[in-house]
Amino acid sequence: MNQSPRVPFVNLGLQYKAHRDEIIGEIDRISLSGKYVSSDDVSRFECNFAQYCDCEWAVAVGNGGDALYLSLLSLGVSNGDEIIIPVNSFVASAWAVAGCGARIVFVDVREDFNIDPELVLRNINSKTKGVMPVHLTGRPAPMNEIMKIAKDNNLFVIEDSAQAVGAKYYEKKVGSFGIVGCFSLHPLKNLHVLGDGGVITSNDKEIINKIRLWRNHGLKNRDECLLWGRNSRLDSIQAAIANIKLKYLDSWNERFRNIAHYYTEKLSDYVIVPQENAHEYSIFHRFIIQTGHRNDLQGFLQNRGVETKVNYPIPLHLQYAAQPLGYKRGDFPVAERQANEILSLPVYAEMTDAQVEIVIDETKNFFRTKV
Ligand SMILES: *Cc1c(COP(=O)(O)O)cnc(C)c1O
Repeated sequence: MNQSPRVPFVNLGLQYKAHRDEIIGEIDRISLSGKYVSSDDVSRFECNFAQYCDCEWAVAVGNGGDALYLSLLSLGVSNGDEIIIPVNSFVASAWAVAGCGARIVFVDVREDFNIDPELVLRNINSKTKGVMPVHLTGRPAPMNEIMKIAKDNNLFVIEDSAQAVGAKYYEKKVGSFGIVGCFSLHPLKNLHVLGDGGVITSNDKEIINKIRLWRNHGLKNRDECLLWGRNSRLDSIQAAIANIKLKYLDSWNERFRNIAHYYTEKLSDYVIVPQENAHEYSIFHRFIIQTGHRNDLQGFLQNRGVETKVNYPIPLHLQYAAQPLGYKRGDFPVAERQANEILSLPVYAEMTDAQVEIVIDETKNFFRTKV
């Protein structure tokens, strides 16, 4: 029989268990009401989420990938346009661009896994319409530099904030810098629902209204259609669950940070650990270490009951889907090296102190005995 690991990579059931009565109460209320989509629960979540992100507006959508895709569509991105994205990200950053018919322009990242602004600048041409920085691992991308480059070159900025709900850059929440901020409520994200979900923030009423159309069949009201849109809505039950969880998010993020800072302190003699700059408030959606002994360490930890993952083992330009773009190995040396050396350690609010110690002890054991 397979024993469950001493430290699983995630344990979503624990969070549900802690808020079970509240969640069941909402599921029951909405089930009886019959208002399963486009209800007040959804608009309430949009208000709460906008407020949480220091933005004027938010629109809830079906998932984080659609948040990016519908934002690009609403900004009029189409064939012949170029959008710059970091080459180290989840695949949704790429398909959202390709889905609009635009060309994906990858650029390399820096040591902190986030997009390199100098390379953004170097890749701008007359077809470039926008740049989509990703706040990867929950750490804010260098927004001052990116916003300046965008302004100087008349580009829009879409913040892929899927991994960074609640993160701050110079005290300002991510998702409030660009024309829009895109978030995911996927089960693996710090703020998650019991299924798929996404949300977009903005201070621009016009773009918000456009996205509202795109997410709901292009319908202005029940009968009148202004554009051939999509269907990408957040269910009422998921919105109600997101409303419950938003109340606890800051305390969960603090717990992510405490664990991360403790890992940093205890493991910095053994591996490269993420360093947080004074102007950053990272929410450590992932805690990613770097070591030349990655594969051996991962196998060792697995044997000792510590589950880890690699985010991400294949840089976007080396994905099969990217072949038509004509990139090759060697084009993005930082991301390519990181792909071989990165390892995501377990980090989530429900981890016990004892589990955190196990991760640290076993990592140290590996370097003491195996290397
Ligand atoms: C999770 C994620 C997405 C996509 O979110 P889904 O809700 O799974 O569609 C997009 N970008 C990044 C960086 C992500 O981590």
